[in-house]
Amino acid sequence: MLEVCLLGTGGMMPLPNRWLTALMTRLNGSSLLIDCGEGTQVAIREKGWSFHDIDVICFTHYHGDHISGLPGLLLSMGNAERKEPVTLIGPKGLERVVGALRTIAPELPFTLEFHELTEAEETIFCHGYEIEAYKVNHNVLCYGYSVVVRRGGRFFPELAAEHNVPQKFWNRLQKGETIEED
Ligand SMILES: [Zn+2]
Repeated sequence: MLEVCLLGTGGMMPLPNRWLTALMTRLNGSSLLIDCGEGTQVAIREKGWSFHDIDVICFTHYHGDHISGLPGLLLSMGNAERKEPVTLIGPKGLERVVGALRTIAPELPFTLEFHELTEAEETIFCHGYEIEAYKVNHNVLCYGYSVVVRRGGRFFPELAAEHNVPQKFWNRLQKGETIEED
């Protein structure tokens, strides 16, 4: 099941009960974050979701209210024993901007893998997510994201029975496997 949480929906202006921009999804133990405004790690704690499982972070653009929460979040992910690489996706300049923010979070127990967007539209596959990035209008280079999770095909037990498909194969067939059998 895909879970979606709007962690923060504020923009620029600090508000008492509203965090700056960040959206988080969870899918089969893998989390994805879109934008990481200031205080995003506090919003994640409030929600009770894990820092450890954040595999992908997408940035729409590099205004502070969308990215300045990154150094603190990365440090907290390190404290949460994150060891696996984290994929970062964003417009041109990603590695430079993140590198600058990393001067206050230099030592992390995991590596960062950068995917800089170069096309007007791109599709990236990672951790079970199909991420569609597309340029949008803003006063700086900016992308929107659609997160697509493909469903498995539908399995019809009554048809399988009718065609004498042994029941021991049903589970694997349902997951899309091809089975050869005498
Ligand atoms: Zn902006």
